[in-house]
Amino acid sequence: MRTWIRNPLGILADNAGGGVIVEDSRIVALVAAGMTPSAPVDEIFDASRHVVLPGLINTHHHFFQTLCRAHPAAYNKDLFPWLTALYPIWGRLNRDMFRLGVRLAMAELLLSGCTTVMDHNYMVFGGLEDATDIEVEEARALGIRATVTRGSLSLSQKDGAVPPDHVAQDEDTILADSERVLRAYHDTSEGAMTQIALAPCAPMSVSIGLMRASAELAEKYDCGLHTHLAETIDEEAFCIGKFGYRPIDWLEDCNWLQPRVWLAHGIHFTAEDCGKLGRHGVGVCHCPTSNAVLASGFCKTLELEEAGSPVGLGVDGSASNDGSNLMEEVRHALMVNRLGYMSAEKVTHRDALRWATEGSARCLGRTDIGAIAVGKQADLALFTLDELRFSGAHDPVAALVHCGANRADRVMVAGNWRVVDGAIPGFDTAALIADHTAAARKFS
Ligand SMILES: [Zn+2]
Repeated sequence: MRTWIRNPLGILADNAGGGVIVEDSRIVALVAAGMTPSAPVDEIFDASRHVVLPGLINTHHHFFQTLCRAHPAAYNKDLFPWLTALYPIWGRLNRDMFRLGVRLAMAELLLSGCTTVMDHNYMVFGGLEDATDIEVEEARALGIRATVTRGSLSLSQKDGAVPPDHVAQDEDTILADSERVLRAYHDTSEGAMTQIALAPCAPMSVSIGLMRASAELAEKYDCGLHTHLAETIDEEAFCIGKFGYRPIDWLEDCNWLQPRVWLAHGIHFTAEDCGKLGRHGVGVCHCPTSNAVLASGFCKTLELEEAGSPVGLGVDGSASNDGSNLMEEVRHALMVNRLGYMSAEKVTHRDALRWATEGSARCLGRTDIGAIAVGKQADLALFTLDELRFSGAHDPVAALVHCGANRADRVMVAGNWRVVDGAIPGFDTAALIADHTAAARKFS
């Protein structure tokens, strides 16, 4: 099946003014403006109302946190008191609530133009042992590409950490289950729909031994490694107090200075740290909204990229964001970076879109997604400019970011339309909202 996505209003690709040819799951040709395809097509999609982007790629989230958005126990708090308020609540999570949180987050991301979702789930405990399996099932049902991490907590209150004792697991259990899900679901082939990465939670809640063992397992199964790092000044003080060194030294001590690794946040790094991360190819997922809400600080995106680190974009968990809208995140990235660098010239809409596409793909270690180019997977997000907010806009691609696009009209994943006319075909959104709202009440 060959489809011509014809004559888009705008497109984020060079020499593709006439559109894109998709064959099965891949992009097989770009059509220059005013030209027609060089070979016959089976189907034509008229994109004259659409601005076409590469499918957006999220690189940090905690899906279950959609169940505690705008929670009075946690809002208006910085990270450490925020975690202290929320962990006991999260400890009441069960598998039905978890599944609804996952389903809602994935649908919300998909409708915002996201074609590859990522979840950093560290809630795997008694009654939730199959959390990773649930996430894979839900991603497959929705037809979305997913990197699901097997997260972990090995330290709890009895060790002086914040998580309640019952949500932490011993290291042997964590590593055995990590190996189980890697064997069951991790696909390293081109066009993979499901990948697994390993994601011990943060320096405060896992041991160095678990970090090192996870790195060995990642080597064996050729998968990614992910953790939170350098999110707050408090975390740096914690590392100095407990280990006698800074977060970047902890990363090195754990054998995690390597290209398999991408970090969430990466805020409190010096210029020297950025150079070191870049030399070792460590990626950073920038989470501008979460960083602003929790007042954590400002990620040195430009220094990191300059040093050679992949920089991706993430909405982070819905308890801190509180949304799961990746297109909104692109706009926030533009605004936060302009404020941070105090320059409107250093960071443009194209930079923010690059982080959400190519940069995120590099963080996940993928070369088959993240751009509209021949040979890449046919993951596309199409937006219209029919709303009041876009009226009068000139550059269509810039309009998406500057005017605040937040809902795709069409989304294609691996050559299949997963969003049509702004909705997911066959998906009962109203029922999901009702069930998810009822589940969230258990967290009140
Ligand atoms: Zn996070």
